[in-house]
Amino acid sequence: MSVEVSPDSKCPICLDGFHNVSYLDRCLHKFCFRCILEWSKNKAECPLCKQPFNTIYHKKNSFCCLQLSAQICR
Ligand SMILES: [Zn+2]
Ligand SMILES: [Zn+2]
Repeated sequence: MSVEVSPDSKCPICLDGFHNVSYLDRCLHKFCFRCILEWSKNKAECPLCKQPFNTIYHKKNSFCCLQLSAQICR
């Protein structure tokens, strides 16, 4: 388990509750889908731990992933 604590359900980017919670392939930090998507347009690294990431996992109806190159869930 990670030593980093994300106590509740607050997105580190917008500091609001998660909307369509998504997480990153490398560090599994959670963000709103649209927050991390916007963030990834500037730089593809985690706002929290600075690890570069390639994929945003978005768990909604089914598990799908979003490759940054494609920007669209296939
Ligand atoms: Zn957010
Ligand atoms: Zn992270």
